[in-house]
Amino acid sequence: MQVLVVEDEQQMADLLRRTLEEEGHQVIVVTDGREGLEIARCSPFDVIILDVMLPGMSGIAVARQLRESRVQTPILMLTARDAPSDIVKGLDCGADDYLTKPFSIDILLARVRAVSRRGAVARPVWLEIGGVKLDPASRRVTRDGQVLGLTPREYKLLELMMRNPGRAISRDTILESVWGFGSEVNENTLEVFMRQLRLKVDTGEPKLIHTVRGFGYRMQEP
Ligand code: CA
Repeated sequence: MQVLVVEDEQQMADLLRRTLEEEGHQVIVVTDGREGLEIARCSPFDVIILDVMLPGMSGIAVARQLRESRVQTPILMLTARDAPSDIVKGLDCGADDYLTKPFSIDILLARVRAVSRRGAVARPVWLEIGGVKLDPASRRVTRDGQVLGLTPREYKLLELMMRNPGRAISRDTILESVWGFGSEVNENTLEVFMRQLRLKVDTGEPKLIHTVRGFGYRMQEP
């Protein structure tokens, strides 16, 4: 599974990453609430593990905003034992379950499995923008009914934009979501990829993929 961990305590974040990776999950860790919200909105995750006390924005606010923007990814909230009101607030604003710190690894893994099972139903069936259709289940992309042959990264890039129709997505967010944190890829590579993707996907008029000068890209209905 793809797991997003939003946790600012280095030790706790390291423990979560190590434990989940040992179970065979792919883990992305961010330490700031706002950053967590941004990446959770833009990339598909199977589970989000969300701390309550975070710099930038609290975990409660992150969960609420994700649900308001119809992101249905299961959320497992991490709360402090001495703050029971956080548990109620967390569940009220859209978290699926919670764990009080400190917790045992076995319970953590069991909760992750449980919330991910519950969440499997809420995925959209098709994404569609201006004649381009993307099926996240089969990873098939068609334009006006014709199947497009995309590389895995081109697919990821397109999926990211199609999950955020009309929204400008920053180059940094794209680089992190498609190539991963700390990768060597730079903005020039992204431009090359975007050009190739446009040649495959965006050959009609009017154009669907737009450059947002000095920021990133946006895909929207003509
Ligand atoms: Ca914290």
